[in-house]
Amino acid sequence: MAFEALSQKLDAIFKKLRGKGKLSESDVKEAMREIRLALLEADVNYKVVKDFISKVTERAIGHEVMESLTPGQQVIKIVYDELTNLMGSKETKLNLKGNPAVIMLVGLQGSGKTTTAGKLGNYLSKMGRRPLLVAADIYRPAAIKQLHVVGDKVKVPVFSMGERKPVEIARASVEHAFRHGNDVIILDTAGRLHIDEELMEELKEIKSAVDPCEILLVVDSMTGQDAVNVAESFHSKLELTGLILTKLDGDTRGGAALSIKAVTGCPIKFVGMGEKLDDLEQFYPDRMASRILGMGDVLSLIEKATQNIDIKKAKELEERIRKEQFDLNDFLDQLKQVRKMGSLDQIFSMIPGFSPQKMQGLDFNEKELVKVEAIINSMTKEERRNPSIINGSRRKRIAMGSGTTVQDVNKLLKQFEQMKKLMKQLSEMEKSHKKGRFRI
Ligand code: GDP
Repeated sequence: MAFEALSQKLDAIFKKLRGKGKLSESDVKEAMREIRLALLEADVNYKVVKDFISKVTERAIGHEVMESLTPGQQVIKIVYDELTNLMGSKETKLNLKGNPAVIMLVGLQGSGKTTTAGKLGNYLSKMGRRPLLVAADIYRPAAIKQLHVVGDKVKVPVFSMGERKPVEIARASVEHAFRHGNDVIILDTAGRLHIDEELMEELKEIKSAVDPCEILLVVDSMTGQDAVNVAESFHSKLELTGLILTKLDGDTRGGAALSIKAVTGCPIKFVGMGEKLDDLEQFYPDRMASRILGMGDVLSLIEKATQNIDIKKAKELEERIRKEQFDLNDFLDQLKQVRKMGSLDQIFSMIPGFSPQKMQGLDFNEKELVKVEAIINSMTKEERRNPSIINGSRRKRIAMGSGTTVQDVNKLLKQFEQMKKLMKQLSEMEKSHKKGRFRI
């Protein structure tokens, strides 16, 4: 799977960061050195790496991070944000303006262009469009036949005119689409082994003849930085509107996916994830960043929580957390709920960036729960609602009333503060997940 080595390295770096209660400037610098190396080893363009590291360092050394309760986690979040930005921050949808809308696929031979034409036809017809595949690669002997085979498989019609001039084929296909009610044309243009002037001229000619709404370059992600160079050349000649990265299911190190947007300025619109004709995915930079950072567990956690928690109660709680009304009654309630989900250790381990050390003492057993309940029951209503009023003499009274010690009360109040932070974080995580964006 793509990015595997990079993911593992980043994970090891983050584990070290997470384990630290406080981060010094040199801890951050050390982590940045390691991240830099990991990115270079993943074949990310060196200028992109340099820029990335300087952005992350600048943000990570800032006050907010170093002084925060969870500095390691903040650094991970910055890396996540910047990785997302690197790949384009938001997904870029296909532009389908025009009737028919013309999508021109360009790329070198072997990049996966013909397969991708079929995948795109399949994708568009599932969207309810009526695509037409057009065979404009007249040089590779088998290309026309291959497109027909692919078109048959996905039940998308194919337009071909044998070995006529590609620009004529393109023009005629627009006419054909118009008459046959096809609202999108996918032009499979010629590829070469290397970029050459003749090919570029031909592509430019087609571009000016049919005015495509999309010129998408199909590039093989396995070719790493070569893919980036190819993209730069095509973009300078043709002004691409986007990229489709194929073979991301292979064991590519990921360098092309991580650098290509930053270097060329062209958004990645789709990725090819296999040889089958439905192995095409829209590209979401944030999801890709989550995947690289191994954050899949956030989803499992949210799923686990929704399976176990009473939805109505959870909604009320969410509301209270948002309004900063989370009090000791909720705390007690939560302790009971969370215990139903499994051991606290297990739960915390699923929260990326959460330092287990920070949560020490929050893993209550049943006996401790009884104690916590007794302490909370010895508080007045006002104290439970607003624990900040619990001063020294109140602590003494509560300890006496519950048969515990002042230390026990102190410990509980501290744990309450931690839980409050955790709940807030979980609620923010869930909110961003609902928006299709999960944060750390
Ligand atoms: P073209 O010369 O650019 O038209 O390339 P083809 O469409 O003929 O593809 C070249 C090879 O790459 C074929 O064997 C495809 O099956 C394979 N291929 C294309 N896209 C993908 C992909 O996303 N993943 C994998 N694993 N193979 C792909």
